Amino acid sequence: MGISRLFRWLFQRKETGLDLESTFSKGAKVNTVQNAHGRFGYSSTNPVPVEDQKGQIDYLACLRCPCGEPFAFHRIGSFGSGPDGHVIDGYEILCRTRKHKLVLFMDMYHSGPSDLVPDGLTRGEPEGIGLPFHVKRFPHGLADAFKQLAQMHRESADNDSKQSPPGDLVKAAPDE
Ligand SMILES: [Zn+2]
Repeated sequence: MGISRLFRWLFQRKETGLDLESTFSKGAKVNTVQNAHGRFGYSSTNPVPVEDQKGQIDYLACLRCPCGEPFAFHRIGSFGSGPDGHVIDGYEILCRTRKHKLVLFMDMYHSGPSDLVPDGLTRGEPEGIGLPFHVKRFPHGLADAFKQLAQMHRESADNDSKQSPPGDLVKAAPDE
């Protein structure tokens, strides 16, 4: 769908600019990180291993709350080093009915996502939506954040015709 293409394009751009990810040693694909303890996903000492920011988004988009609803989510910050030495990210996630609000911890320096799902949650189609940075007035601010991103893309597309965004980029921005 449009949103996932938007993310792919975003992260490719970011990598060509900074290539931060490759300066970290990437661990193997694992279901839990080395020396993990505590509750999977809910404890920063047992973060969900995934690959890059795109892996975080893909993983969270597929989660379902106990009532079977997908989540809106945003990254609330960095939480220092995890049990295997990688930097941990925290995400606030809120289900569509707003009954379930949780914080999950993730380690994006692994190859591929964990097959595990945090206690009480299930997995489905990638219907959740969110961003890999802090969104002001979450979840209401999410639509505005997507609009700002789309605007940035339009501007950078104007400045850089060689790296034009996918054709459906404008469609990918949510409506009011
Ligand atoms: Zn729920």
